[in-house]
Amino acid sequence: MTSLFDRYETAFMPNYGVPPVALERGEGSVVWGADGTEYLDMFGGIAVSSLGHAHPALVEAVSRQVATLAHTSNLIVHPREVELAEKLLGLLGAPAKVFLANSGTEANEAALKLAIKYGKSTGRGYFVAAEMGFHGRTLGALSLTGKPSIRDQFGPFPLDVRFVPYGDADALAEAVDGDCAAVFLEPTQGEAGVVPPPDGYMARAREITSAAGALLVADEIQSAIGRTGHWFAHQSDGYLPDILTLAKGLGGGLPIGACVGFGPAGTIFAKGDHGSTFGGNPVSCAAALAVLDNVDLAHVQAVAAELRAGLEAISHPLLKGVRGRGLWLAAVLTEDRGAQVQAAAQRAGFLVNAVQPDAIRLAPPLVITSAQVQTFLTAFPSILDEAADG
Ligand SMILES: *Cc1c(COP(=O)(O)O)cnc(C)c1O
Repeated sequence: MTSLFDRYETAFMPNYGVPPVALERGEGSVVWGADGTEYLDMFGGIAVSSLGHAHPALVEAVSRQVATLAHTSNLIVHPREVELAEKLLGLLGAPAKVFLANSGTEANEAALKLAIKYGKSTGRGYFVAAEMGFHGRTLGALSLTGKPSIRDQFGPFPLDVRFVPYGDADALAEAVDGDCAAVFLEPTQGEAGVVPPPDGYMARAREITSAAGALLVADEIQSAIGRTGHWFAHQSDGYLPDILTLAKGLGGGLPIGACVGFGPAGTIFAKGDHGSTFGGNPVSCAAALAVLDNVDLAHVQAVAAELRAGLEAISHPLLKGVRGRGLWLAAVLTEDRGAQVQAAAQRAGFLVNAVQPDAIRLAPPLVITSAQVQTFLTAFPSILDEAADG
């Protein structure tokens, strides 16, 4: 019998390679493969499955919505999209307006179009982003993405994007002058390996952009919706961006993205300037509402502190340290053995993500229990042993 992996390889383009694991179902933070193999999900489908798998509130909200009204298009208003926008604005606590998309990269495309329009109306022609930053794979977002391996072969891009080293506020100040339309930054670089900037960096970025009259776009696609122990990372970093983009954890597994414009940035688009057929889809909005009603920040903070303290207490020659915040950590390795750690973890019944050759990303469901965190912490030293030998 041909395996699912062989069929995958035959049917799909090779852009992902063939993933090493196949899953069939999940419950909470546990997932099962077709052969019954059980895993503890320590990466949450790239920080997406905020309520874990098959959460009753998510199942109920999505099932009810799909059985009631699954799609309207953007030519029609429906209650869930309005409730979701209002709920987001309430959590943000500042005057703003929302655009709904279907993914992270689309949220950033909307942000980029706002920035382009702002730049044209104020005579500002270039953009600044960070080296190693990740903003998405569509061409606009890709042009802001600072990872040469995924960017360079698709260039040149029609936008003037200047890259600065992430976390260096002086380099940012140097790069941003009165001709700069917008600065795009992640509050911690996710795909670069969960790399936080020095304390105060984002607040400095706010000062620098405000002084130059450039927009500050905070790409919180990975960092928001409770991931750091706060609804939004900027809330604990002490600044307000002009534009905020959201996606990953917002839909709890259903596709949704959002671009939020604060103050004047909320009204840069005029009627007809942007759109999306599926954006604000009722089913995805119902899912996002269930997520926002069920994420428990106090729980996230408690289990995150346990996970971090447990990792920091492990002394192992392959483990250099821990970085990140909330339930969004990287175990940093002393050698490029991330792939071996990921494989050893899988054999031991844990799904983790070697986000960089020397970094293991941990972004479990926000509902992970203390007991599950302890199970992982107990197993991790022998996973490291195996990866060091193997
Ligand atoms: C994942 C991610 C994106 C892209 O989101 P997609 O939904 O994959 O398009 C953009 N920015 C950041 C910071 C991300 O982590």
